[in-house]
Amino acid sequence: MVHSSVLFRFEKMSLNFLLSYDFDALQNSDVDLSKSNQTETARIIYFSRKYLSMSLPIEEIDFQGKKALIRVDFNVPLDENFYVTDETRIRASLATIKYILQKGGAVVLMSHLGRPKGGPEDKFSLKHLIPKLCELLNQPVAFSPNCIGAIVEKTVEDLSAGEVLLLENLRFHKEETAGDLAFAEALSKNGDIYINDAFGTAHRAHASTAIIAQFFEEKTFGFLIERELASVQRVLDQVARPYTAIVGGAKVSSKIDIVRNLLQKVDRIVIGGGMAFTFIKAQGGSIGTSLVEDEQLETALTILREAKEKGVQIILPTDSKIADAFDNNANTQICKINEIPEGWMGLDIGPESMECMRESLLSSNTILWNGPMGVFEMSNFSEGTERVGRAVAEATEAGAFSLVGGGDSVAAVNQFGLSEHVSYVSTAGGALLEFLEGKKLPGIAAIRP
Ligand code: AMP
Repeated sequence: MVHSSVLFRFEKMSLNFLLSYDFDALQNSDVDLSKSNQTETARIIYFSRKYLSMSLPIEEIDFQGKKALIRVDFNVPLDENFYVTDETRIRASLATIKYILQKGGAVVLMSHLGRPKGGPEDKFSLKHLIPKLCELLNQPVAFSPNCIGAIVEKTVEDLSAGEVLLLENLRFHKEETAGDLAFAEALSKNGDIYINDAFGTAHRAHASTAIIAQFFEEKTFGFLIERELASVQRVLDQVARPYTAIVGGAKVSSKIDIVRNLLQKVDRIVIGGGMAFTFIKAQGGSIGTSLVEDEQLETALTILREAKEKGVQIILPTDSKIADAFDNNANTQICKINEIPEGWMGLDIGPESMECMRESLLSSNTILWNGPMGVFEMSNFSEGTERVGRAVAEATEAGAFSLVGGGDSVAAVNQFGLSEHVSYVSTAGGALLEFLEGKKLPGIAAIRP
């Protein structure tokens, strides 16, 4: 039987001419359509169908009596007693795990943890996560001390519906990050259906995140990735305007591609944090000893010029909280951002900038926030980031869609207790940034090309 959504997808993909084909007849015939002696059309249908059936949404997959191999992101921080100090990532994977168990499947979990040097290291063993996982799932979780091999395969085979098995750290094998084909194939033996629910590693072409997918007929994304994709897509495509992006953090160089890509999509870009000083200096301002990338001065001017051509408003800080040392207890004062005295550095935006940015955010209907406005880790220089965060929350309350992503902005949002007051906080750092830059992520393309 050809699934109705398969036909729907055909339509969506404008492959309507294929609809006239009798799929059931092809499916039931003795002909091996994967072989090259078949007519080209039959082969197109075979492989299209294969592709289409592989990318069904999770809700349309039958898990009854099957083993789902899920790539999760359990790269969580542990303290010196191997206790999980932040369980956010484990919690984020629960929806997918519980769903599959409810639907009569068994679950095999695989992840990396930390940066082992290519062999087993006790401090990076995923066995430390078992107590937390049992607690959060409210059921026993078995552990396999390796992630590939005959013994693991036998353990997987013996799993009953409703049971959960966690495999040992994938990165104890250097083949994982190398994207090794044979290792990916060995991993694929641990399940009937492959699910990728680790958006945080989707930008890596690792064995478990991308290469493995080719060994499965049935493969899809978990709820976490689906939500991430839908939320990020919302700020890339179907935006309610005005659309404002806030870009901050330390360096222009690490954000150029994002800013360039955003210029095609947004109405305004608020630039803050250390990277603002490269723009100020490029325009002739005096920035004292503030953070600057002199080799990016030209780029900053190009961005300003391109923004003007496209009618995108660039909102730079007009004032700054400056300090005479990179220290929370340094002497401080507020001054114009382009008149910073020698020996002083800007470590936060000033009150005038905060107010201007707030106004801009309150009149926005879509907001993307990546990067802090100042050195928010120091209490004396956190106000700008907090105020901007509160303005994002206020705008969200008034109906705007807001997405916060990228390591430091997520940390800031958590620090100020705002995570419940924005529309979506992305779990991903690098993957999100690459997605925003318009790059194709290997982990996504492997399932939905
Ligand atoms: P990024 O990883 O590029 O998003 O940068 C985040 C870091 O930028 C944070 O650790 C901030 O402390 C730092 N940062 C933000 N504003 C400034 C500034 N004005 N001077 C120096 N560092 C800053």
